[in-house]
Amino acid sequence: MTRDRSHAAFERAKAVIPGGVNSPVRAFKGVGGSPVFVREAAGARFTDLDGNTYIDCVMSWGPLILGHADHRIIDAVVRAAARGTSYGAPTEAESDLAELVIAMVPSVEKVRFCSSGTEATMSALRLARGFTGREKVVKFAGCYHGHADAFLISAGSGALTMGTPDSPGITAGTTRDTLVVPYNDLDALRTVFEAERTTIACVIVEPYVGNMGLVLPKPGFLAGLRALCTEFGALLIFDEVMTGFRVAPGGVQEREGVLPDMTTLGKVIGGGLPVGAFGGRAEIMEKLSPLGSIYQAGTLSGNPLAMAAGRATLEALREPGIYERLDAAGARFTTGMHDIFARHGVAHQHAHRGSMVGFFFTAQDVVDLASAKTSDTVFYGKFFHEMLDRGVYLAPSQFEAGFLSLAHDDATIDEILAAADDVIGALHALA
Ligand SMILES: *Cc1c(COP(=O)(O)O)cnc(C)c1O
Repeated sequence: MTRDRSHAAFERAKAVIPGGVNSPVRAFKGVGGSPVFVREAAGARFTDLDGNTYIDCVMSWGPLILGHADHRIIDAVVRAAARGTSYGAPTEAESDLAELVIAMVPSVEKVRFCSSGTEATMSALRLARGFTGREKVVKFAGCYHGHADAFLISAGSGALTMGTPDSPGITAGTTRDTLVVPYNDLDALRTVFEAERTTIACVIVEPYVGNMGLVLPKPGFLAGLRALCTEFGALLIFDEVMTGFRVAPGGVQEREGVLPDMTTLGKVIGGGLPVGAFGGRAEIMEKLSPLGSIYQAGTLSGNPLAMAAGRATLEALREPGIYERLDAAGARFTTGMHDIFARHGVAHQHAHRGSMVGFFFTAQDVVDLASAKTSDTVFYGKFFHEMLDRGVYLAPSQFEAGFLSLAHDDATIDEILAAADDVIGALHALA
């Protein structure tokens, strides 16, 4: 399989776009090599500039739960576009999508739309601060909440009360206001709450973490978060940008029966167009401008094309049996991978929730960032490239979840597994 045109396109892009990409993980730094440039996609597959076709296990990092180029979304977007692409004045399409979100996500009574997950989390944080009159935020190491300053901090080991910024350009003041604790560690969170008492506005968490690979909460962790936030008067924010509409119609909060005060949404909610949203209890959401004094806005917020794509997606997901199908796909993929790794004696961990899948090349239980980092990323890089050469596009980093869609039928998943079996056999023979 040659990728000459992708290589040339990358050189061209690097001359005009920093690193050749508009979002860093696309550049393949996590696995080495040079990225695949996409020409077009349909269903579970995309085709690159050189005409090679791949089964896609990334699916735009989550939004495309119906598959690429689903006709329902295309029809909705084309119809909306023909009536104008943006007005900067209200439309009924916004209420259509808001009503669907509120019907599906258990804790959301009112919702506001923006254009990305990053906007959703940064707006939710401002609202939490304004509502509580407190300034600090607690996050968990390894959780990703978009690229706003307050969240780009993940503690070095043991640094419970002093975050270390992950990027230059984040001020010392911002760093001081973000407290980082290990995921799945309620004792650490209690320690922070007891030290801080009344300064913490909110705790934000990926209730299933998808951004250090897929890491699940231990039994009782999410309920424990809920109880601690209530005890200390802080708001609990579930960042369901990845898990919302993905692991259940109502996200993790529905699956686990734990209700946050606020929820952030993105990815699936826009069906591949730029949509973010944050919602929660009406009493909190009504503090937003123009009802209240907490400011938040967006020229393209509630964009009619994006609302149409979101509505088409959520309506498709409300058909009976959809999540059973997604769950079966996730199970077939993960147990299949597990069987292959186990048969060849490759140390690994595996998990799935619905169509969100993950595996780590480590013998250690993965419960937080420190244990996730014990994975053999060099082996992952080899596995990734061998899979790519057999026409399977996995996430170009060990520390990302994989996403399947309704277009990934049994035969497609079996093709992925056959490729993996071949690759692991070959890598094994080399070792
Ligand atoms: C992707 C993601 C974000 C950021 O969303 P963008 O649309 O990329 O800004 C925030 N939180 C979580 C949990 C995510 O997975």
